[in-house]
Amino acid sequence: MKKTTFFFIWTLILTGFGPLSHAQSNRWQQSINYQIEVDMDVSSNRYQGRQTIAYSNHSPDTLTKVFFHLFYNAFQPNSMMDERSRTIADPDRRVGDRIVNLGPEEIGYMRVKSLLMNGKKVVMEEVGTVLEVTLPEPILPNSTAIFSSEFEAQVPLQVRRAGRDNAEGVRYSMAQWYPKMANYDEQGWHANPYIGREFYGTWGNFDVKITIDREYVLGGTGYLQNADEIGHGYQEDGKNTSPSEAAKLTWHFYAPQVHDFMWAADPDFTHDKITMENGITIHHLYIKNSKTENNWSKLKEFTPRAMEYFSENYGQYPYQQFSVIQGGDGGMEYPMSTLITGQRALGSLVGVMVHELAHSWFQGVLGSNESLYPWMDEGFTTFASNRCMAAIFTEEPSGFPQRGAYVSYERLAKSGLEEPMATHADHFHTNTAYGAAAYSKGALFLSQMGYIIGEDIRDQAMLRYWEEWKFKHPNANDITRVMEKASGLELDWFKEYWVYTTKTIDYAIAGVEETNGKTKITLQRKGLMPMPIDLLINYSDGKQESVYLPLTIMRGIKAEEEGFAKRILTQRWPWTHTTAEILLDQPISAIQSISIDPSQRLADINREDNEWIKE
Ligand SMILES: [Zn+2]
Repeated sequence: MKKTTFFFIWTLILTGFGPLSHAQSNRWQQSINYQIEVDMDVSSNRYQGRQTIAYSNHSPDTLTKVFFHLFYNAFQPNSMMDERSRTIADPDRRVGDRIVNLGPEEIGYMRVKSLLMNGKKVVMEEVGTVLEVTLPEPILPNSTAIFSSEFEAQVPLQVRRAGRDNAEGVRYSMAQWYPKMANYDEQGWHANPYIGREFYGTWGNFDVKITIDREYVLGGTGYLQNADEIGHGYQEDGKNTSPSEAAKLTWHFYAPQVHDFMWAADPDFTHDKITMENGITIHHLYIKNSKTENNWSKLKEFTPRAMEYFSENYGQYPYQQFSVIQGGDGGMEYPMSTLITGQRALGSLVGVMVHELAHSWFQGVLGSNESLYPWMDEGFTTFASNRCMAAIFTEEPSGFPQRGAYVSYERLAKSGLEEPMATHADHFHTNTAYGAAAYSKGALFLSQMGYIIGEDIRDQAMLRYWEEWKFKHPNANDITRVMEKASGLELDWFKEYWVYTTKTIDYAIAGVEETNGKTKITLQRKGLMPMPIDLLINYSDGKQESVYLPLTIMRGIKAEEEGFAKRILTQRWPWTHTTAEILLDQPISAIQSISIDPSQRLADINREDNEWIKE
């Protein structure tokens, strides 16, 4: 495995700027190229690795330290993940007290045995799941440093996400498996200890060689470079393979412009390959038995359909391949791939595939910092996958695919457990508050946007978001600015309330009375969060009209939406005023009912007082 040559180092340097050539962000970002070679011993579940990294500093800062994640150290008794998992008020049942009970052969570890920067020894200290590295010389702005290391690791018994021998018998779910450099961005270093959730990485190219017993079948991030040598269904259709006779094979993968690399391996994986009309190849890898056979066969129809749906609605998928692999402990997203448990009913199998595939847009390619902005990944993914499921899985799509997210958010808002959505993913006090904020309130960020600026404008803005921010780690402000530009409205108030506070929306129809032959409607804002109001008037003769009350601070109005009652009145509502009065020309006898937001898109946590019906 001694293959590090000067030629190789120059290749790394020359390709080190790849990711930036696609980016027109006004923000700088670092870039990285990994070359990793590992040799797996499947009897001890340990592996030896060598890693060479070309790290380019595009920041204006001089770096004197760098940090590496050593994720597998989390799977040791008394680690931060162990302590947190056992002491949190509502433990994740997948973890609970499993880490503290791992034996010496079952724990995970990752040890960097040697590390050189530009050929010089560094000073390093392993602190739990983070390697703190003091550099022998600084990395200056606009320069590239070469790090070369040797490391060894033991794959933990699968507890959370990665590991060996998961509940469905998959031997290796190899996520978080190499020393990964922490990301440095305009907010500084993100050397988060691994305590359970969410990741963030630097864009770059991964050249990965995995040597493992010949009977193992692999899949994961990246294109297989030696398919003819490996076979196992990766070779071109109809082509003969020429596998080596050796006891071990070396699988060579290359993944361009990704921020992480996952692989999985099992001797019993069945490999299905589906080539889509646009040339994208879908790989399914699973252990075929009575619990998987039928539904994974049916899944072959749905993965390409979901890929088409997301590409059409959220931006063209930029890679040539996606792999759905049985492994892990539920569903977890990685670049160009996902690990999902596979013994599921069809709806659940399709649902988890769709959710994890949707992550390719928000986690994989937009790549928001999931620790700081989990809602921009899990929330937007939930929003997009709910819509995709309604479009591809049911014969008659439900009219309101986000219903579940509303119910979950409302429960959170009334639970007393809610924390601002802006809370760092690791630092929520409960799993409940994290889950409902990131997934449900995050999904509602986009559905509230649809309500405020109009669904069509919001949908066009999502495509614009993709074009402007793919491969650039957008933050809360960036998505809000895209929505502002698309709608022409000022929306910072929405971001500030929805993301940074737990204030809730609650409007009411406080009164309807007749004065001088006209009808006076009094609306009341009971909640602390202001929102524009769509009001529907149903007349006794069957006619419908709408009244629109934009907030003054929006500095504009949304365009009339198709399929809604004609707008007869627009009246600004200053947020400082808790009530608004509307005067209709008709007498009260002409009105049958009045309702706030008949579309039910407004995340009003108390809808009982949103309707007035004539007695
Ligand atoms: Zn997710």
